[in-house]
Amino acid sequence: MGFIESEVAVVYGRIVEGFRAPYKEDLYFKTVIVPGFSDGHMHTQVVDAGLEPSRVWSNSYEWLETRRLRVDEAAVRSDLDLSSRLAAAAFSRSLLEGVTLVAATGRLSANVRGWLSLTSRPRAIFLPTVMDRAGWPSIREVEVEIERLEGLLRDGLAKIGVFVHSLGTAKPESVRRALQTAARRRSIMGMHLSEGLPEAGRLVDVLGRGPYPARIVAVHCMEVEDLPTGVRCVSCPASNQILYRRTRPTLEGVDGFGSDWPLLIGTIARHLPLINKLYPGRLQEILYKATIGGYRAYLALHDGDFVAYDASLEDVLAGRALPVWVSVAGKPAVVEGRLSGSGYGYGEVLSIIRRLIKEALEKHGDGSLPYIPDVESMYEASLALEGGPRS
Ligand SMILES: [Zn+2]
Repeated sequence: MGFIESEVAVVYGRIVEGFRAPYKEDLYFKTVIVPGFSDGHMHTQVVDAGLEPSRVWSNSYEWLETRRLRVDEAAVRSDLDLSSRLAAAAFSRSLLEGVTLVAATGRLSANVRGWLSLTSRPRAIFLPTVMDRAGWPSIREVEVEIERLEGLLRDGLAKIGVFVHSLGTAKPESVRRALQTAARRRSIMGMHLSEGLPEAGRLVDVLGRGPYPARIVAVHCMEVEDLPTGVRCVSCPASNQILYRRTRPTLEGVDGFGSDWPLLIGTIARHLPLINKLYPGRLQEILYKATIGGYRAYLALHDGDFVAYDASLEDVLAGRALPVWVSVAGKPAVVEGRLSGSGYGYGEVLSIIRRLIKEALEKHGDGSLPYIPDVESMYEASLALEGGPRS
């Protein structure tokens, strides 16, 4: 038995000096974060968001209908081998950036297969996407897939819920049935909600005011509106800034954060500089939501989860430092900046991701290259609109 010690720690969002806690060996770091970061929304198969420089959308439905994708998303999803490797790469990147809990939407079998292929894994909430649209599975099809796969996840680090894409792309009966599916498994129903236009009223029309039989996690929730009790909000500031040049104007009502497209723009741990600019002076609340907040939204355990750096908290917050040690459920997932098991470091995982995106574009693309913006420049671009940031 030993101790983990650090000069500074963030414990459940609170910044403390001189941290010391029992651990199975003696370890000393400059900064420790307990638990690690939670990325409450990620599409692990998105290799192209259909973006264009200076194009701004007003809401998610407009984006879905008018974006120009360079890659056939349905073809990527049905390529189980490729979409599993994309998921595995997204989970590896998450760990190396300090994310110990991920909530992954998209194709369930690919996410589960990618996750099981790894020796080092973050905790995972798998939320298979349901849409009543061609190329996507219905709630009935997702139920069959869940039954087929849930037996593979017995180590307590992962659970399966369901993700209704949105109120505009799923029939009310599908949304109600998905909530029952989540309830039967004592799990979560996730959904995109109020991504550019208010939808709380529509949610109440479909599901009533609650109490609901299962926890609902709304993602994006950009509008400030009264969400029924029992609905949590995971905000996605980086992708909101990229798509809409605005995000939720307040931290009030936000339970956690999500990155949306980890393969393209990194995880929530890399968006802290942006989030701190959007909500100045609110550091401890931001740290709370970016770590334990996401765990609580998804009712996830966090015992034995932490992230440690040989760098100051300032460097971590500025995005200048990556963790040297990441522990998930008491087991080292990253040691000396490398994944336990594969031994890959951050640079290697980023090259794997670049190669996978290239492979996806070659196999399922139209021959042109997608545009991938830099998160920081999107904040600068939002400042140029209407005389100030629209958040
Ligand atoms: Zn999303």
